[in-house]
Amino acid sequence: MTIVVKVGGASGNASDPVLADLAARSDYVLVHGGSDAVDRLATALGQPPQYYTSPSGVVSRRSDAAHLEVVVLALAGKVQTDLVAALMRRGVRALGLSGVDGGLLVARRKSGARAVMDGRVVHLADDLSGTVERVHVPLLRSLLAAGLVPVVGPPAMTATGEIVNVDADGVAAAVAGALGASALVLLTNVPGLLRDKDDPATVIPRLRPDEVDAALPLAAGRMRKKLLAARDAVRAGVPRVVIGPSSVDRPVERALAGGGTVIG
Ligand code: ADP
Repeated sequence: MTIVVKVGGASGNASDPVLADLAARSDYVLVHGGSDAVDRLATALGQPPQYYTSPSGVVSRRSDAAHLEVVVLALAGKVQTDLVAALMRRGVRALGLSGVDGGLLVARRKSGARAVMDGRVVHLADDLSGTVERVHVPLLRSLLAAGLVPVVGPPAMTATGEIVNVDADGVAAAVAGALGASALVLLTNVPGLLRDKDDPATVIPRLRPDEVDAALPLAAGRMRKKLLAARDAVRAGVPRVVIGPSSVDRPVERALAGGGTVIG
């Protein structure tokens, strides 16, 4: 059965153990983010990244046209190429695809991106981010059937042909749901969802899907996106989502064995 593994890109993540683990498997899709690489490139180009918090407390990257260019360069360029190369070096025939390639990820542009700034809610009219609405499953299936491993990341494209930034956890959830994956593994820089985000010993081992909403207040910032993505994947029929650490030995097998926070 196909599994979908997403490796995080914030600092504190490690891709090597993930790739070593994956090289021993077949029938999987690797999804990547790369927030650290985007931030570094943006800063080097003199356009430091900006983040905003929505009225519901979700932190997002501010993706205006200039920043979207940096996102594309860093993710579809550098991060994805490095992951594909690292898998190839391990003998895996990997193929990198952004959501734009072959119409893989069709997104709806967020028309109402809203940010809380200085206590006021502001509409971000120039934001070029979106939500994945459709995954080109036959494309992924044909690659997998040909023995290729798809390595997938943002951006995506709207039905009218606009490139938009999309959240990589959301990409992983959409791909896992559309493929009918047997599991979605979200590997990140913490051991799982923590009851106290500053105490790695407080991992919540299991959440039923109907407990996710109640757990959202525990998750600050971008962990909230992960929980929402996990809930979306379960709702789309993925029986098991695990949020676990990337920087351990055998991170994929460990997560599949329940190491981290299991949602499902
Ligand atoms: P990645 O790039 O690996 O996807 P993110 O930075 O998007 O990582 O999300 C993981 C971060 O979420 C953690 O590093 C942590 O700072 C933050 N976080 C906030 N609340 C929690 C929580 N309750 N449990 C775990 N992590 C949390």
